[in-house]
Amino acid sequence: MSDPIPFNRPAISGRELAYIEEAIALGQLSAGGAFTLRCESLLQERGGISRVLITASGTAALEMAALLCDLGPGDEVIMPSFTFVSTASAFVRCGATPVFVDIRDDTLNLDERLVARAITPRTRAIVAVHYGGVACEMECLAQLAAESRIRLIEDAAHGIDATYRGRELGSLGDLGIYSFHETKNVVCGEGGALCVNDESLVERAEILRDKGTDRQRFLRGEVDRYTWVDLGSSFGAGELACAFLCAQLESAARLTEARRARAGEYRALLAPLEAEGCLRLPATPADARDNAHAFFVRTRSGVERDALRAWLGAVGISSVSHYVPLHSSRMGEKVGRTHGELPVTDAAAERLLRLPMFPGMTPEQVARTAGEIRRFYSRSGRPGTDG
Ligand SMILES: *Cc1c(COP(=O)(O)O)cnc(C)c1O
Repeated sequence: MSDPIPFNRPAISGRELAYIEEAIALGQLSAGGAFTLRCESLLQERGGISRVLITASGTAALEMAALLCDLGPGDEVIMPSFTFVSTASAFVRCGATPVFVDIRDDTLNLDERLVARAITPRTRAIVAVHYGGVACEMECLAQLAAESRIRLIEDAAHGIDATYRGRELGSLGDLGIYSFHETKNVVCGEGGALCVNDESLVERAEILRDKGTDRQRFLRGEVDRYTWVDLGSSFGAGELACAFLCAQLESAARLTEARRARAGEYRALLAPLEAEGCLRLPATPADARDNAHAFFVRTRSGVERDALRAWLGAVGISSVSHYVPLHSSRMGEKVGRTHGELPVTDAAAERLLRLPMFPGMTPEQVARTAGEIRRFYSRSGRPGTDG
């Protein structure tokens, strides 16, 4: 058997170790040092975002976003069910109710037509998750949010280096978040960022990140000591992680290009199967540019998906399904509400299979994976029963 192909392998872009040594030499390892600031400037400049705050994780950034929305019991937050737990848990921690709305069949992003109908007098925010780095219909969502005077938050955990009508994901809502978890496009182990596009929220965001203290004002010399002034937590990331992240952010364009090249190869090799109606490939609307965060296929049934996954696994190729929809999870059932049925969500959960995708992946590995998928379908009728 040929060498196994992992689902993901974090890329090292080159300067990570040098920057970690530099951070150690500088002598500040806690949050808020030179590398935190460098990462924040890089993200602010590339995204045209007024203030970016580096956080310990994407989850921490979502928790800060939820706190900045000032939510309480009875308040509703519209979001997809086809997303990671943190999208919802951050708001549930504030006592709010997630309202799960179905997704579009093409992009697997919030279906904006359904969002309009899910808004009630208790709705306080919409969370737009850019699935796989493909932009949501932001113009429509922004208009709905403005009409209802509610917050629009982007969960751009997958979305660094992807755009909507030429603008960076994360820069379009009142608030946006990135994740730098090792499974994302730009990584530092665990890390994230909060994009504060509404400038009136910047000062409070700084206080929340610093355990509820006005330490940032103290550091700027605006007060002569810092004290406890608000809610908060230790939401910042240490300098060693930021040093690693800085190297990755400097190489982000290259990391994304490598992914895009692999996605293009997958697409070319699998297009015939899509034309035959065996499976579906990811779709990106004309006004969006994705970052090839994920490359996935959708099979005709859940049974077929599981058989394909087993087929690939048997030849050493790792592929993975994605979210268990939050509305059908134990906690989601308890604390959430569903807006109607979620047939697209349920089908995606059942039929979607993510293929290996990482910057260091070779064209040969893509070809081998696609070749195995073609072999699987060439035996259709009895997929996975022999060989
Ligand atoms: C990864 C992810 C998060 C959480 O990010 P962490 O950095 O792992 O905390 C949130 N939302 C989505 C959609 C994600 O994929």
